[in-house]
Amino acid sequence: MVEIKNLTKKYGDKLAVDNISFSVPKGEILGFLGPNGAGKSTTMNILTGYLSCTSGEVKIDGYDILDNPIEAKKRIGYLPEHPPLYMDMTVSEYLDFVYELKGATEDKKEHLDKIMEAVKITDVKDRLISNLSKGYKQRVGLAQAMVGSPEVLILDEPTVGLDPKQIIEIRDVIKKLGKDHTVILSSHILQEVNAICERVIIINNGRLVASDTAENLGKSISNENKFQLRVAGDERTILDALENIAGIKYIKSLGRKETGSIDFIIEAEPNMDVRTPIFNALAQNSLPILAMQAMDLSLEDIFLEVTQ
Ligand code: ADP
Ligand code: MG
Repeated sequence: MVEIKNLTKKYGDKLAVDNISFSVPKGEILGFLGPNGAGKSTTMNILTGYLSCTSGEVKIDGYDILDNPIEAKKRIGYLPEHPPLYMDMTVSEYLDFVYELKGATEDKKEHLDKIMEAVKITDVKDRLISNLSKGYKQRVGLAQAMVGSPEVLILDEPTVGLDPKQIIEIRDVIKKLGKDHTVILSSHILQEVNAICERVIIINNGRLVASDTAENLGKSISNENKFQLRVAGDERTILDALENIAGIKYIKSLGRKETGSIDFIIEAEPNMDVRTPIFNALAQNSLPILAMQAMDLSLEDIFLEVTQ
């Protein structure tokens, strides 16, 4: 449905997107993951025909975004990083306006009602956009992308700036949209992409560093090998108790976080599960474990992991 070949974008001397190729089959939800400055927005702006590329090719349902912009753009709904909302319009006035702007041909009332229902903004349709919360504004942005029934939805960091409850709600909406749309969604949060997407592409410094199913990626970067431990007792006694456990790569003390206990980061050798031996060794020495928790990988850790 979406095909990108050897896409490169330079801003002056700055290489923002470096020879990226990927394709997204019809109906897939693809996560576009990368830290700030990775080139996500640039790629999405090129995909939607909003920016031109320095070299490369973008095809939407077979239509080249440069040679056949009208046909290609008809198939795309875009939620940019900063949605172009008109603050002095009500929600329905704005969607009406977008409908005319896009030259949509669906039955207007039925179409817009259905969209408002899908993104759950029917109850605010007569409110001024300026008076809506950030979460509702974002949903109006999603609604505008859906006007004209495009098959492909391109969503640039749709949850940025939302509170946790709004994030859960909008993720839910996007998942549902994924049932009858091809969706490309960018994020700098791994958990988010894992929660919503079937496949994940990771970019860093404009380069594609990994492409896999969310499930496989999750496996290859799962981190049962590194965890944080809180033990009651004094540091020396605890370290002595842990000294002879096979498979521990290193133990790093983080000092006292809670009165009477010490926190540690422990990393095990690959494929070694040292949690049970640690439990036994500490129990034998009457050193209670107060907490043991797998450590979340940072995006940087993941890049190291997937590029090695
Ligand atoms: P992301 O969306 O992943 O955070 P961007 O695509 O916005 O990344 O930016 C990629 C790189 O290109 C960054 O280093 C950014 O500073 C640079 N960049 C983005 N837009 C411009 C621009 N209009 N002019 C010059 N450099 C830009
Ligand atoms: Mg961006």
